[in-house]
Amino acid sequence: MKIATEAAQIGLQRDTRTGAVTVPIYQTATFRHPGLGQSTGYDYSRSGNPTRQALEEGLAVLEGGCRGFAYASGMAAITSLMFLFKQGDHLIVTEDLYGGSYRLFEKLFQQFGLSFSYVDTSDIELVRQAIRPNTRALFVESLTNPLLKVADVEKLAALCKERDMLCIVDNTFLTPYLLRCLDLGADITVYSGSKYLAGHNDTVCGLVAVKDPALAEQVYFHQNGAGAVLGPQDSWLTVRGIKTLTIRMDRQQENALAIAQWLTLHPQVAKVHYPGLPDHPGHELMKQRGKGFGAMIAFEVTEPHLVNTLLMKTRLISFAESLGGVESLITFPAVQTHADIEPETLKRLGINHLLLRLSVGIEDKDDLIADLAQAFAGGEPE
Ligand SMILES: *Cc1c(COP(=O)(O)O)cnc(C)c1O
Repeated sequence: MKIATEAAQIGLQRDTRTGAVTVPIYQTATFRHPGLGQSTGYDYSRSGNPTRQALEEGLAVLEGGCRGFAYASGMAAITSLMFLFKQGDHLIVTEDLYGGSYRLFEKLFQQFGLSFSYVDTSDIELVRQAIRPNTRALFVESLTNPLLKVADVEKLAALCKERDMLCIVDNTFLTPYLLRCLDLGADITVYSGSKYLAGHNDTVCGLVAVKDPALAEQVYFHQNGAGAVLGPQDSWLTVRGIKTLTIRMDRQQENALAIAQWLTLHPQVAKVHYPGLPDHPGHELMKQRGKGFGAMIAFEVTEPHLVNTLLMKTRLISFAESLGGVESLITFPAVQTHADIEPETLKRLGINHLLLRLSVGIEDKDDLIADLAQAFAGGEPE
């Protein structure tokens, strides 16, 4: 079946006792055993909870994976994946990475003997050159944050296979609706479900999908062992969110394209990064590999004072971190989301003090454009 159908039907028909249409919230820590040495299949909610399981199985279906896992946050999910590695292992990582992932790798896992090289993963030759004898994995963002560089997941996964490395894709910006990374050969996809999957700026969660059963068994061992699982209420909210994933993203992409085109023509905008624009370097690749271009836009204004003006004067669009929800948000990556990355690195990556990032929501596009227009106008000295 098509992904819109699978998403809408997630969690259905799980309660045979009452026939409840949606999955119940099993708000319980523990489960009664029917007899000595017997189990209902559930013993304790860290190890398994039916509401969380509905989400985990639903994600596995959307991804075409064998198994899914839900965590307390995207960072908890990524942390859990790092337990696949041991002291001395080396990973290659996308250079313009989510700031929190960078912080996790450099400030936490480096002290346990893992090492990380940061490369432009939109260039497969640079990835190949970065491989060392102890390289165990590639951790790649399919669409990067905030500059929206596009990785060729299919080619990268093939390279990983050839070199016996795990290919882990942070597909948060695209979701399985727009890019099916496991089908393209990746071993693991990881998500901040707090973004498009839950989709309403109301839940923090992390998700992982795994293709191979033996690898999934290891990931489960770490999920249960480290224990940063998603609670039943938040699992339910995420199931609820995923049901409308495809229609939300359709609208968000339609809005994003209109806004990106409008920004391109604005005299106070110097540069627009949106992969849906034909002159974006990743445009053709995304057209071939995926089903859309997402709804994140980064743009540079012409004057530094415009940054504050836009952040303060937009009324509909909220100045806030995060992305992917139904409400549009604007943020200033150099200061807000990427503060943990060294200034020289930010400079090299092009994350400068003129760059703003928009997460386009499902509002009416004319209202969003009108909001940006009045904010720009408010910044002009009379
Ligand atoms: C937000 C985000 C994360 C972290 O997820 P949380 O749910 O905030 O812990 C990881 N990767 C990307 C690309 C993100 O946007």
